[in-house]
Amino acid sequence: MLRSNAVRILRLIFYSCLATAAPIARAGAGEKTPLGDVFLITIDTLRSDHVGCYGYQWIQTPTIDQLAKQGIRFAQAFTPSPITNTSHASILTGLLPSSHGVSDFGVPLTADHSTLAELLEKRGYQTAAFIGSIILDSKTLAPGLDRGFEFYDNFPEKTETKSRWGRLERRGMDVVQRAETWLDGHRTGPHFVWVHLYDPHDPYEPPPPYSEKYKDHLYDGEIAFADSALGRFLNYLKEQHWYEGALIIVVGDHGEGLGEHGEDTHGIFLYDSTTHVPLIVKLPNEQEAGKVVEEQARTTDILPTILELLGIPAPESLDGTSLKSALLGTEAPSRTVLGETDYPLRFGWAPLRSVRKDAFKFIEAPRPELYDLRSDPGEIRNAYVPWDSTVQKLRKELAKVSAKAAGKPSAAAVAPSTTDELRALGYLSTADARSSTDVPEPSLLPDPKDKVEEQNLLHVAMMASEDGQTAKARTALEKLLRLDNRSEIGLSQLGRLEMESENYTKAALYLGRACEVNPQNATIAYDYGRALELSGVLVGARHALQASLKLNPKQLAARLLLGQIWVKSNDPKAAEDEFEAALLLQPASAEAQIGLARALLRQKKFGDAVGFLEERTKSSGNNADFFELLAQAYIGVGKPGPAQRAKDMARRIRAGTGPH
Ligand SMILES: [Zn+2]
Repeated sequence: MLRSNAVRILRLIFYSCLATAAPIARAGAGEKTPLGDVFLITIDTLRSDHVGCYGYQWIQTPTIDQLAKQGIRFAQAFTPSPITNTSHASILTGLLPSSHGVSDFGVPLTADHSTLAELLEKRGYQTAAFIGSIILDSKTLAPGLDRGFEFYDNFPEKTETKSRWGRLERRGMDVVQRAETWLDGHRTGPHFVWVHLYDPHDPYEPPPPYSEKYKDHLYDGEIAFADSALGRFLNYLKEQHWYEGALIIVVGDHGEGLGEHGEDTHGIFLYDSTTHVPLIVKLPNEQEAGKVVEEQARTTDILPTILELLGIPAPESLDGTSLKSALLGTEAPSRTVLGETDYPLRFGWAPLRSVRKDAFKFIEAPRPELYDLRSDPGEIRNAYVPWDSTVQKLRKELAKVSAKAAGKPSAAAVAPSTTDELRALGYLSTADARSSTDVPEPSLLPDPKDKVEEQNLLHVAMMASEDGQTAKARTALEKLLRLDNRSEIGLSQLGRLEMESENYTKAALYLGRACEVNPQNATIAYDYGRALELSGVLVGARHALQASLKLNPKQLAARLLLGQIWVKSNDPKAAEDEFEAALLLQPASAEAQIGLARALLRQKKFGDAVGFLEERTKSSGNNADFFELLAQAYIGVGKPGPAQRAKDMARRIRAGTGPH
């Protein structure tokens, strides 16, 4: 009785505190209902068991620890996804990946799923997002995540710098500084600001003094640095007198394998090492300060919690549910935690699904897994047998989710322009491997458990290539091929590496083997053609490019290269056909236009060439090549005067005195 009275009083205090935060109008009601500031801070790649207040002794995270003292710490919080943009899409929508559909990099978050920012913006919030990595850039790799944000701090489209900083990543201090600058210019609240600190993501390169202090465990150094950036931001909020009344949420987007279960980084598996994340909620005026909730909670619960605390109705059919009762102390039901990862599909391996309930974890895989978390928290002893009643119960839970997800469109391919960025961040792009749309029945694919070492080596190779360490990348890929000499990804990556190192014969060898392993991959067939062409094997190159175009006829680069090979092979008629096909794909391609003109001249079709080139010089009159070719065409039809004028024009353009 005493306890329930105390709870009631605390709830009253909480609501009166919310009421003093900041005033805005409730939509449609006409009366003023106060809503307070909301600050969401996501820390990338943050394992809960590497944070001070979660019991880790080898780190100092004073800011997170202090926030936990002033707020409520969820000891058992989980992300449904071990991949950055999928996980963030779940935080911002309250939905599982199979519901919001962002199951991969570059897949847009469609407008039928409301985001937290949209819901708050409608209530008069000033909204802004500050991201620490291009992986969350809404123009390229995370389209739709910016919906509802009045300002979304994307990366510049073009940068001259070769450094990671500013091009791919921003240090935590930089992200926080940008958020503060924006807040300085938007002082009237209420605010909803999302700050993303990417630092703990690999490569682990903390700045001094963390690089020195944590030199033997640099991942922790990155976490400690991110904690200091968070500290700076919270101090700023305190100085502005925004801290007290604000609702502040700090959460990890996923963890890091650190070698557990053979996984170095994250994305492939659904073990706790990459799904158990810190979650701390500070209520206005430090309500329920210092409380620890032991029951399972999920990052999909964040959106419904914020909405309920603010008195805003939640969208229907969310996967998450509000944690208000857990925060306010009346009840804290343990929630069923679901996990999903499609990232293995990029390598041609089976996707995984998991359910964590009543101290058991079940993972659906070609070789399924069951762990009793009370006796085996490290998920080391697989206790799976198909007739086990727990297995059957948990399998049913998963079946409900897959039934709900059935019929949703599958992930779209990532635009080719983003593949370089993905590789630079250490992720495989769809151009490298099979896409999720061309895989057979997932249960027939290799189990990621048997393949994770290959993924680690690929990751090492991609990060080394990005750093210009070709020898290190080559060693990792050669090691991968010793594990599996028919690895399509290993062969294609090594082929591309040899190509970049100008070892074209070697490149052709690896890429040819990759084509044999998977004759259905148009990108690999194109690369093989390019390697053969550069090795001087024109007939082989032609066959490879034709095979590639048969698989995907819409490849401009393949058409252009094939056209050039026909020219070199003294078959200008075939070249003409190829360049015409290229122009159908991209009518404005200057390379295709010049190729076509040359093919016409080689066949002595001077009249056709004159007609085509006169048209071109009229529409794009500053291209000297067109005038030079036109001069040749005029000579062919016996018009030396116009030929001379065209030649003069070409010279003037080259000298910079021609038309602009
Ligand atoms: Zn992440």
